[in-house]
Amino acid sequence: MEFVVFADRAAEMEAEPADLETVALVAELFAGADDELDTVARFVQGRVFPAHDGTKLDIGPSLCYEALAKAAGTNVSANDIEDRLAEVGEIGAVAEGLDLGGQQGLSAFGAGGGEGLTVSEVDSELRALAAAEGSGSTDTKLDTLFGLFNRADDLEARFLARLVLGEMRIGVGEGTVRDGIGEAFDVPVESVERALQVSNDCGLVAETAREDGEAGLDDIHLEVGRPVKAMLAQAGTAVDALEEWDRAAVETKFDGARVQVHHDGQTTRLFSRNLEDVTDPLPEVVEFVDRELEVPAILDGEVVAVDEAGDPLPFQEVLRRFRRKHDVAATRENVAVELHAFDCLHVDGEDLLDVPLVERHDHLRDLLSAGISELVLTDDADAVAEYEAEALDAGHEGIMLKNPDSSYTPGNRGKNWLKRKPDVETLDLVVTGAEWGEGRRANLLGTFLLSARTEDGYETLGKVATGITDEELAALHDRLEPYVRSESGTEVDIEPAVVFEVGYEEIQRSPTYSSGYALRFPRFVGIRKDKSPDDADSLERVERLADT
Ligand code: AMP
Repeated sequence: MEFVVFADRAAEMEAEPADLETVALVAELFAGADDELDTVARFVQGRVFPAHDGTKLDIGPSLCYEALAKAAGTNVSANDIEDRLAEVGEIGAVAEGLDLGGQQGLSAFGAGGGEGLTVSEVDSELRALAAAEGSGSTDTKLDTLFGLFNRADDLEARFLARLVLGEMRIGVGEGTVRDGIGEAFDVPVESVERALQVSNDCGLVAETAREDGEAGLDDIHLEVGRPVKAMLAQAGTAVDALEEWDRAAVETKFDGARVQVHHDGQTTRLFSRNLEDVTDPLPEVVEFVDRELEVPAILDGEVVAVDEAGDPLPFQEVLRRFRRKHDVAATRENVAVELHAFDCLHVDGEDLLDVPLVERHDHLRDLLSAGISELVLTDDADAVAEYEAEALDAGHEGIMLKNPDSSYTPGNRGKNWLKRKPDVETLDLVVTGAEWGEGRRANLLGTFLLSARTEDGYETLGKVATGITDEELAALHDRLEPYVRSESGTEVDIEPAVVFEVGYEEIQRSPTYSSGYALRFPRFVGIRKDKSPDDADSLERVERLADT
């Protein structure tokens, strides 16, 4: 296909405001793309490489401006291009407005010099450019780009410049490509969608749809070494989770970096969340996986940096590892990393994406003797709060709540995974009462009545018993006992003196407490030794928070 034909179509798509019409244009383009279908399917999205391929063109804007300037002739400099960009706001329009191709004598750069560009030529030139390495590679890249721009007409220049910088701006996203493939080759969109998720390669999917139809699409499977997009999470609470599902799978939310593990039976490759190959920076994870896995598998997990005691370090420490590709040995000595595998997508020829989460997690147990993220099933929101308090105490970021029956949907930020980080807002509340504990905590105060300050006293709004370790409980008892005013049954009245910092899921209107509000799932964070009851949060603040 002539690149000018592609550019014409791209211009039509850009001018088309209606989604359905854009899909029709994409379908038409695909249907007429012949041998270049896979390339065209990527180009419309501003991609040269498939999504699973971490290869980058690595062309910075300034290199692109320089190449454009060179193709525009001696009167135009890279600075001029930048000035025009500042005026026009977009590189495609700048490129289109230049009088390119004046450098006829130099147009022999690139294959087929002198003739019109084809889509496959642009593709192979850009691929060669991406492969250029070492000293002199910048010059090679500049020459290649110049060669392409020098042969481009106005419209071609618009889309070439955008393609080079990875942004087509023609309103064609993954959904449009999916629908376009469906329409062009008369295959169900659901099959296209699934094949895209599994392969992460729109070129392959488009070609398969054309050659082998629905059956061909259904025959596309996960492949070890070809990473899929990570399944993502929404923010959510235990209440959300238990309203949607009868029970929730609760896990620690590790504060590290996402890693997809691909083991082919012999060797291991690791991919980051944006599908870059991070095998080299994480040798101990590779060694661990090589030791543990005997069959091909694809796992999903989080890599966490730990200190000498094995306690988690902030995730920046893992990122340092990712960045320091060339001095791994030195960083490795300073920061240890470990894998917490939480999902299993494929084992020994079998794809598990559509198998329920709990079963996928069972596979992890079969495969690994360690390094598995614990998964707890519960239908009790208090148990979730307890688990969260423990996770936070252990220095983790929070918890994940997952639908135990859900499948793994690559790239999807759906409602089946909820992330729950600690409350951004906590309240500082006064302890005005308590209850004696039960069982082994019978001679300690165990549940604490919390109040907010008002103009003329205190109003209650909840009780907290969650998130307190045995040690803390003993300390709290000693601290509060001097303030006990009276007792009746198991209940104790306490003079306002001690302030607790408390997390919660939400504040509801409720007749249960004197304030007219109740905290849902309050969680003890700590004592505010620095605060007196007068500094505690007011009922007015509670009301404000309840309304937001
Ligand atoms: P966020 O980055 O805040 O959107 O949270 C989602 C991220 O949490 C995921 O992409 C993972 O990298 C990370 N994460 C940590 N622990 C888990 C876990 N147990 N399950 C799933 N994701 C986790």
